[in-house]
Amino acid sequence: MRSHELRRRTGRRSKSAAGGAMGHWRRLFPTVMRLFFRCLRLCPRWGQGCRSRQLQELWSYSRLLLKSLYFNSLCNFDVVLDSIFEPVYWLVDHFTRWFGVVFVCLVILLMSSVLFIIYYYVLPVIINTYSTPWIVWHLCYGHWNLVMVVFHYYKAIRTHPGHPPLVKSDISSVSICKKCIIPKPPRTHHCSICNRCVLKMDHHCPWLNNCVGHFNHRYFFAFCLFMTMGCIYCSLSCWNMFVGAYNAIEVSCCVPFFIMLKSYYQTPEPSFTFHDRMFHKCIIYVWVLTSSVAVALGGLTMWHVVLITRGETSVERHINRKECQRLKDRGKIFQNPYNYGRLQNWKLFLGVEKYSHWLTRVFLPSDHTPCGDGLLWERSTRRTCPTAI
Ligand SMILES: [Zn+2]
Ligand SMILES: [Zn+2]
Repeated sequence: MRSHELRRRTGRRSKSAAGGAMGHWRRLFPTVMRLFFRCLRLCPRWGQGCRSRQLQELWSYSRLLLKSLYFNSLCNFDVVLDSIFEPVYWLVDHFTRWFGVVFVCLVILLMSSVLFIIYYYVLPVIINTYSTPWIVWHLCYGHWNLVMVVFHYYKAIRTHPGHPPLVKSDISSVSICKKCIIPKPPRTHHCSICNRCVLKMDHHCPWLNNCVGHFNHRYFFAFCLFMTMGCIYCSLSCWNMFVGAYNAIEVSCCVPFFIMLKSYYQTPEPSFTFHDRMFHKCIIYVWVLTSSVAVALGGLTMWHVVLITRGETSVERHINRKECQRLKDRGKIFQNPYNYGRLQNWKLFLGVEKYSHWLTRVFLPSDHTPCGDGLLWERSTRRTCPTAI
């Protein structure tokens, strides 16, 4: 009886102990799991992974946001490059516009200084030392060249290059100007310095402070040509005087040396008056300036001769070269639609319609307007190659 009672009590105690252990573990398990997850969260490697994933998500989201801001199906590398360099373009455009006035004043100042020296120093020497036919030649050619330079420079500055109409019209257009929001006729391009579309635009010239376009292209070219001719003429005419002046200045620089040697060799010391010294310096100034301008402007003039012979403007030359390469890669040949043949290109450019115009419109000052209105351009039917496009 006693042993049975003891076994029963012992069994009840063991049952209650087992139930207590289970309850304890049941309460302990969530705590342990909570601690485990907290440890995992605090674990540095796991935290790094989480952070890197969060950073990746943030980066992907930022990229998507950025792309959504500038996404355009027509966007390409050129547009991106233009957008990046837009502040630089803005600065160049505004400074060029402002410097245009300074450049024009500089041209007038330099031309005036050369003219003053020619009339004050060089012409008296020519009249006093040259034979009569040479004097007549210098007087006639020099003044004709001067008139041509001044006339064409003035006209190139004062003549508007030509702009397409801002109001709605029936003109044929090849595209829309993104800045002016107007139709662009063929051969028209936007000048970012003038901030307008220009008909048959060649380039913006800071030395004219004006765009070179359909209505003043001939004046610009004639100015370059006659200015180059005038500079070559001055340079050649002053050559002998330049050599004399250069030697005289070299001797003047060595005067202290001559004085030092005078007692030994009895060398006569060179004596130049103020007028002589000014004459030497002015002749050297004129020769150096005109020779430099003749080389620089001569190169530019020759380049424009090539372009006009091809029936292209400077802008079109750039576009046509790219187009030519693009078609060449496809096995095709590009042909400029505004190339009417060498002679015809020159006739159209100079406005020569009959033989007498070569004299009256090319070799004499003439303010005739160019052929056409700059809005309509007839495409050339001339084909040098049957497969050309
Ligand atoms: Zn425009
Ligand atoms: Zn311009």
